Amino acid sequence: MSNGDSEGVDEETTRRRIADHLRDEDATPSELAEALDLHLRSVYASLSHVSRSVEAGDERLLVVPPECSNCGFSGFDDPLGRPSRCPSCKSERIEEPVLRLD
Ligand SMILES: [Zn+2]
Repeated sequence: MSNGDSEGVDEETTRRRIADHLRDEDATPSELAEALDLHLRSVYASLSHVSRSVEAGDERLLVVPPECSNCGFSGFDDPLGRPSRCPSCKSERIEEPVLRLD
C-alpha cells in the first residue's frame, strides 16, 4: 500500500489492523502509527470505533491513561483526547496512553 494520498478510504481495514495489532501486544498510539504505517491522527480517529467494534465481540479496549512526566498527574477527563497540557502543573510533557485489548 503506497497510495499515501487516499488516507481514510478504508477505515474499516484500518480499525481491524489496529485491533489485530493490539491482540498481539499493548501499544501507544504512536507505536500503532509506526507499526501500521498510519498517521497518528488516523489512529486517534479510529480508536473510538475500534472500541465499539470489539465490544460487539467479547473484548474491550482498555486505556492506560496518559500521565504527566513532570508531576505524575493521570486524571485526564478524556484519556484518548490527546491532552496537550497538564491541568495540574501546566507541563506539556504528557506521556501517551497505552492501549490494550482484553
Ligand atoms: Zn503535571
